[in-house]
Amino acid sequence: MTAIEMIKELFTLKAELIDSAAKAADFTDDEKLLCSVARWAAASCGEDEGEVLQAAKALVEEDAMDLSLLRDFLEFGRKPWRFEGNIFGSDEQYAEWRRTRCLITIHRGTKQIGGSIIEITMGNANVLVDLGSSLPGSQGIGDEEILKKIFDRHHRSIDHHIDAVFFTHYHGDHVGLMDKIPADVPLYMDSAMFEIMRTLHKNTGNKVMQELLENRDGRIHTFPPAIGEVITLGEKKDMTIIPFFVDHSAYHANMFLFEGAGHTILHSGDFRGTGYMGKSIDLIPKIIHEKYGKEVDVLLTEGTMMTRSTEKKHLLTEWEVHKKAKAFMKDHRQIFVVCSSTNFDSLTSICNAAAANNIPIYASSYIIAMMKTFKGMAEKYRPKLPAVQSLNELWPNSQKGFVYLLGSLSGISKDGAHKLVHNLGKHMRDYRPYLLYSMWQGYLDEKHPAFNEGVKAFVDEFDGRVTYIHSTGGYD
Ligand SMILES: [Zn+2]
Repeated sequence: MTAIEMIKELFTLKAELIDSAAKAADFTDDEKLLCSVARWAAASCGEDEGEVLQAAKALVEEDAMDLSLLRDFLEFGRKPWRFEGNIFGSDEQYAEWRRTRCLITIHRGTKQIGGSIIEITMGNANVLVDLGSSLPGSQGIGDEEILKKIFDRHHRSIDHHIDAVFFTHYHGDHVGLMDKIPADVPLYMDSAMFEIMRTLHKNTGNKVMQELLENRDGRIHTFPPAIGEVITLGEKKDMTIIPFFVDHSAYHANMFLFEGAGHTILHSGDFRGTGYMGKSIDLIPKIIHEKYGKEVDVLLTEGTMMTRSTEKKHLLTEWEVHKKAKAFMKDHRQIFVVCSSTNFDSLTSICNAAAANNIPIYASSYIIAMMKTFKGMAEKYRPKLPAVQSLNELWPNSQKGFVYLLGSLSGISKDGAHKLVHNLGKHMRDYRPYLLYSMWQGYLDEKHPAFNEGVKAFVDEFDGRVTYIHSTGGYD
């Protein structure tokens, strides 16, 4: 071992190395600490002290070695040293603790809805579940700070390496920071999510994400959208992960069952029971118990729509969305629709309502591409999607009726909303069309932090000719 390797080795917390370095260390200040550790390592390996010190300084400058962490480790010195709340008297005790440890670190998510990030450690394997951006108005730790906190630590100490990031589904509050993850960390997602994200980012123009989703280096590992794929991580198969498909306003969301170090943890991700795959939520406990014969020790879940049992507020199911939209379209045949282009359940409900009333459906090439991607994967699971025509077909035929899918309009400004209305011109003036708003109504509420003035301005243009039909999952 070289002297510099020996210094790096201190971060693996080997007791005899820590003891030896601590005896030689000068704790007066950081400069003296680094010099004394370099001297110790150089003497132990018979190398030049000056050169070792240069190399050690370079490590600190590159952020590859954290001096305050080194100080913490060495200051515990010959005492039985403490780590994450445990006390070890020997290397054997420490090795045994590492092998059997199971830690859950909630980096973010206890004080906000969306953007939650959880680290799960089992034995020597360490994974993150989701890395999304915070939703507007969130009070918790900011995106930049959270990335620094997680990945600086990951570079600093081999004890906190991140083996993989698992993504439950493609909503921004779960994947929004994907492009900021260091390039050596593998990413896991199901193949449906991968395809949808590829189509999505062809439209967003995010070059980093486009390049990432090309997956030339095989960094993204996809698993098939079916229950039962078992993924194994860690040199000694420390952790196994089983994904379970679950209903959500994103197509093919996953729950993950993590097992290792004698423990089983179920991470729910976002889920609901009101979509076309709503039954999945009842099936998962059965499959975990009966097919896999497992008991869950810890359930990690997101509390977006928890209500007290006394508050019996009925949430619309997608079948009800379909029925209401169908009834609405009997009386109104010129309709603009605001609905997320990745909420395929709702698009299915609305498009089938239009088809049942013989109203042709139109959308931009982006939304058509999205629906094609979805159709290719999901046809056998749910109600079929009717054909959607391009906008070029709409303008000459608009007097015959139309359902025009606009997407979520999430990035639209107030000016953008007025421009859109202007472009829709004649159709707005002559037919006085209706708007079917199928998204969370919080975006229209001026008092809510997620208020979107562009969407509100657009909705206002319809002068009351708006119907709200939505199967909500919270912020979507
Ligand atoms: Zn979601």
